[in-house]
Amino acid sequence: MSPAFFPVVVVGAGPTGLTLANLLGLQGIPTLLVEKNATTVQEPRAVSIDDESLRTMQAVGLVSQVLQHVMTGYGSRYLDSARRCFLEVAPTQVIYGYPRRNAFRQPQLEGLLRTGLSRFEHVTTRFGWNLDRFAQNESEVALTHTDPQGASQQVRCAWLVGCDGASSSIRSALGLNLEGETFAERWLIVDLEDSPAPCRDTLVFCDVSRPCIALPGPDFTRRFEFKLREHETSESVLAEGMVAKLLAAHGAAPKSRIVRKTVYTFHARIAPAWKVGRVILAGDACHLSPPFAGQGMNSGIRDAHNLAWKLAAVISGKLGPNLLETYEQERKGHVREMIQLALRMGRIMGPPSRLAGALTRLTFRTLGMWPPARDYFGQMKYKPKPRFRAGFQLGTRGPCAALVGRLIPQPTVTTPEGDQVLLDHVLGDGFSLLALTEDVKHFATAARTWAGIEVKLVVLKRDADPTRFDGLTVVVGDSSALLGSVAPEVRELVLLVRPDRYVAAAFAVAHVAGAARDFEALRAATWGELRAVASIA
Ligand SMILES: Cc1cc2nc3c(=O)[nH]c(=O)nc-3n(C[C@H](O)[C@H](O)[C@H](O)COP(=O)(O)OP(=O)(O)OC[C@H]3O[C@@H](n4cnc5c(N)ncnc54)[C@H](O)[C@@H]3O)c2cc1C
Repeated sequence: MSPAFFPVVVVGAGPTGLTLANLLGLQGIPTLLVEKNATTVQEPRAVSIDDESLRTMQAVGLVSQVLQHVMTGYGSRYLDSARRCFLEVAPTQVIYGYPRRNAFRQPQLEGLLRTGLSRFEHVTTRFGWNLDRFAQNESEVALTHTDPQGASQQVRCAWLVGCDGASSSIRSALGLNLEGETFAERWLIVDLEDSPAPCRDTLVFCDVSRPCIALPGPDFTRRFEFKLREHETSESVLAEGMVAKLLAAHGAAPKSRIVRKTVYTFHARIAPAWKVGRVILAGDACHLSPPFAGQGMNSGIRDAHNLAWKLAAVISGKLGPNLLETYEQERKGHVREMIQLALRMGRIMGPPSRLAGALTRLTFRTLGMWPPARDYFGQMKYKPKPRFRAGFQLGTRGPCAALVGRLIPQPTVTTPEGDQVLLDHVLGDGFSLLALTEDVKHFATAARTWAGIEVKLVVLKRDADPTRFDGLTVVVGDSSALLGSVAPEVRELVLLVRPDRYVAAAFAVAHVAGAARDFEALRAATWGELRAVASIA
């Protein structure tokens, strides 16, 4: 009997693989998820989830459950060695529908994502199964995995996605080594329960002799991260007395319960290629970031959202396989920027010398007197914007160019029924043509298919009194004018929004026909030949 065939096999049920499998489930793609452990992760790892990931959880259909375990909207206070605050990050702007920085616990998120998979009959999960090896040719990938009793089984797939974490055996089998800066700092991580914090913000102790980060979490959990000194061994800092001393010195509540203590070595590295033939890497399998910007997992969730609709479009034959080449093209630059941000933040937390620390603090205190600079840091405007410059998008000139390749803001809109909902709820799971126009009639002749793709037609008006004007188009009101504020100079504009909410094309309402022709050409380009396929045993 020929081994079972799945269009997609995802290896690794961390946040990246679980998110990807859920999104593929929503798109109706038969998927096999293989995880070597019997359960999802039990020990705390990531503790900070951003607005973009919460928006992806909204796309996954689980955001209301996830939010029950999230402490939304917290900031950071950077303290000098005398514990005086020299920089406050307190983002209040809500651009993508959720607060920018939120505390959570990775095991709870993974548990919810795993439960979420039970919604899809066409998604098979195999926990306790280990991927042993794989080989690919031009048309498929054959893989061997072992069940919990040690029996081997073969399956075949069209696409294998390695979400198998930092030590990815799939990456190794592809002959890819992580490259880039080696940032091998060692940090002691201590997770506490029953540990009320003095404030709801992260406290960053920028002390040259002992940098430390204290992050409050939901349900009175708290994470402490202490940088090891060069001469210190893991055993010496993990000793009970040492941990107690460090916690007391940094204000942990005396009755806190330690649930986990461990020493991690952080890295800042990227794989040179994220796709070889029919095998694709995502999450920690292809990029590692120190956790100072809280972006390792968030970057993996971005990968999953970028990849899921592309796999679905290719498998269903709506777009050609070249589309998958745009995954690395679109994601890699942003991942690099996030890693650089984490390294910069690490240097603020742990300056290389007392002089460097004093200069950094002086700079921030001086800048803090200038409102635009205060706003820049306070609102986290230093965080790289979710944007790519090349990929599956229509290049354009003029004021519209600023919108292409960007994640669109997500305002709360008023539906024709008078409900207040987040915009993505109206846009649905696929492509949409979103017209920012006050003259609804401009859109009256549009059909459900545009430039060969199925689209949902949505008109966003500024006024808060929307009415449905035909069977095809939904008219909603955005009284916040959040979307209009993205490009205030552009009026009467249409955005082609991809399923991952990035703008694939932006054009004036009057240029709909020309843009459709250009988009047809882009669509046709996805049908080129697959890049060279290597056979890997
Ligand atoms: C101390 C610490 C703090 C962090 N803080 C943050 C933070 O605040 N915010 C943030 O965004 N990120 C943070 N991170 C990073 C975050 O935890 C990781 O980036 C994230 O877990 C990566 O998810 P992933 O799904 O790509 O990989 P993983 O979570 O590593 O999952 C990979 C999965 O693949 C499975 N697997 C591996 N090989 C096989 C095989 N052969 N067969 C079957 N299954 C296999 C593994 O068992 C594992 O379950 C932190 C990390 C650490 C260590």
